[in-house]
Formats: sequence, structure tokens, C-alpha cells
Amino acid sequence: MLFDRSLDRAEFTGILKCACCGHTMQVQEKRDGKSLIKVCSYVVNDKGDKCINRGGYLGPVKDEIKKAVLKYREEVLNFLKNDNCTDDVDKITHQIQAKYKGLRKYEDALMKVKDSFDLGDYTREEFLTRKEKWKEKIDTVEEQISIFEKELKQQKSISDEEKISILDCYLDNIDKIDDVKDRNKLYKTIFECVI
Ligand SMILES: [Zn+2]
Repeated sequence: MLFDRSLDRAEFTGILKCACCGHTMQVQEKRDGKSLIKVCSYVVNDKGDKCINRGGYLGPVKDEIKKAVLKYREEVLNFLKNDNCTDDVDKITHQIQAKYKGLRKYEDALMKVKDSFDLGDYTREEFLTRKEKWKEKIDTVEEQISIFEKELKQQKSISDEEKISILDCYLDNIDKIDDVKDRNKLYKTIFECVI
């Protein structure tokens, strides 16, 4: 489809993000292999100043990406060797359980503060201070739980063996695929974007 190709004709389309302003950077394809990352010309403030990122050659960026992928593969392999994967899920699960225990304790404490106020044990000011104290603890622990749960989901969603096979598929094919569109698809199997 001609229309489709024109949308996605340059390598790294939609993948490269400017480290200065966060906008997507455009690539100018050159036949001699010296493709360029175009100057980032986004206006970054009300005064109309443009982003300072001048772009550059794509080649070195691609080399760095490859290095990073290889390094990441090495890390995953090391991790597999140490057989830490199931340990990690267990560890996080335990942490979540402990946090929930703490959460219940704080919620009980908050209830007691409310009861005491109802019974006339506290002044309104005392009540508010104590209530705030437990509310803060509850908020913090809830935030921690949500972080752990996210981590757990991530750990479970993809095993390290799967990671290795996805990385290998990438490394085996990335230099062999001619179609830029397919290459971009392959990039997106391992990263959302490059900053
Ligand atoms: Zn920029």
C-alpha cells in the first residue's frame, strides 16, 4: 500500500524522542547510510525559543542502541543463571502482603481515632491532627502497594527466557531486514522509544 509506506518510510519513525523537549524526532533517510536525525525545531516556551537539540547522524545512535540491547541481553542471561526470577516474584509477593498488613493496621487506627472523637475523648483539633497522621500513613502505604503490584505484574507478564528469545530474534534480524517498515516493527518489539 503506497499510502502506508509513505507514512512509515523512514527508519525509527515515531521511535526517536528528543532528550531535551520530549518531542518525536524525524529522520532524514540518506542512501549512503549517513541518515540524519533532523534538527528538533519545536518551540519550547512562550517566548518562541526553539529546542536546542541540533540532531545529528543516525549511525552512532544505532550503534549505541545495539550496544544497549547486547548489554541488556547479558544482564538477563546473568539473571537467569542465578535463577532469581521465581525468587523475585516471591519476594515482591511477600512485600505486598506485609504492606497490606500495615495498611489494615493503619485503617484500624484511623477508625479508633474517629470512634474516640465520637465518644468525646478528643477535641476537634486533636482529632484532625491524629486523623491526618494516619491518613498520611495510609496514603504512603497504598502508593507503595501500587508500585509493588506494578512490579509484580511486570515480572509475571514476561519470563526471562521469553525476553532472551525476543532479544535474539531482534539481534538476528535487525541488519537483515530491508523493509524499513518491518524494521520499525522489530524495533518496537523491544523498546517503545529511544530518547
Ligand atoms: Zn527537542
